[in-house]
Amino acid sequence: MADKKLQFAIYWAASCGGCDVAILDVNEKILDIAAAADIRLWPVAMDFKYKDVEGWADGEIDVCLFNGAVRNSEQLHLARLLRRKCKVMVAFGACACFGGIPGLANLHDRKSIFEAVYGYTASTVNPEGTTPQPHLKVPEGELTLPVFFDDVYSLSQVIPVEYYVPGCPPTPDTIMTAVTAIVTGSLPPPGATVASDKSVCHDCKRKKSDKPTIKRFHRPFEIVPDPEQCLLEQGFTCMGSASRGGCGALCPAVNMPCRGCYGPMPGSLDPGADALAAMTSILAASDDATVAAETARLLDPLGTFYRFTLPVSVLGRAPKAS
Ligand code: SF4
Repeated sequence: MADKKLQFAIYWAASCGGCDVAILDVNEKILDIAAAADIRLWPVAMDFKYKDVEGWADGEIDVCLFNGAVRNSEQLHLARLLRRKCKVMVAFGACACFGGIPGLANLHDRKSIFEAVYGYTASTVNPEGTTPQPHLKVPEGELTLPVFFDDVYSLSQVIPVEYYVPGCPPTPDTIMTAVTAIVTGSLPPPGATVASDKSVCHDCKRKKSDKPTIKRFHRPFEIVPDPEQCLLEQGFTCMGSASRGGCGALCPAVNMPCRGCYGPMPGSLDPGADALAAMTSILAASDDATVAAETARLLDPLGTFYRFTLPVSVLGRAPKAS
């Protein structure tokens, strides 16, 4: 371990908080991290003020683990500020790497999201149609809120990023691989993803056929899966063949199809298109009507095939209404 402690910052933006919890999932190894690094910023665990961050010298922090997508002006400000203050920026978790689940909001825009959330949901009572405003004058002064963007961005779409640690959330093994590489100074070249270069299927222990076929698509609740056979061959929308491994194929090991949270394979142009092609190319159908009937059983294809990657995909977002 280095003589001088490393200086770490951990920040969360548009995320669920699972990435922060995942850091604690390394259990007692958190003590090794604490021995090697001073954690100078971690809003989920300790109280910090923005002026603390603004007071750091540029480059004062060695590494920032930034989790969450960027969907409002406060998150963009912090991403830019931390980029200045930190020598190495790590996109930590699927939302920072690819936009993640929050990135599915790119199917809509701010106006339609506000209309739903502050308008017609079953639990909303808002007869005056009040929506959040970035500036509001009150007798005591002016109240401000971050500006809610039309689009959700991955971290590298708004600032330069050196490394990517994918996963929803990253597994403890993935986190320790990344932290150990940082602490021992054995990081790969900038731009690298700290995960496997092989697919989830490569690590999956399920039995695969030489000539796989799918007779019918199923959602997980519709049938009880065979515990040993490949889930894709049983008709489940398993993204393993189009998804980067490194997670240990944890989901298919417990009968859950891979959702693709470690992101696209190296060199992939479009992760969703890869997965869709992999599935439909082995569909056992001899006529167009059967193909149409079976693919109609693939409910929510955008949400399924681009669950974590819509902002960085070729699609990027749905066309805006106006
Ligand atoms: Fe395993 Fe899914 Fe790949 Fe089949 S498609 S081998 S179940 S990861």
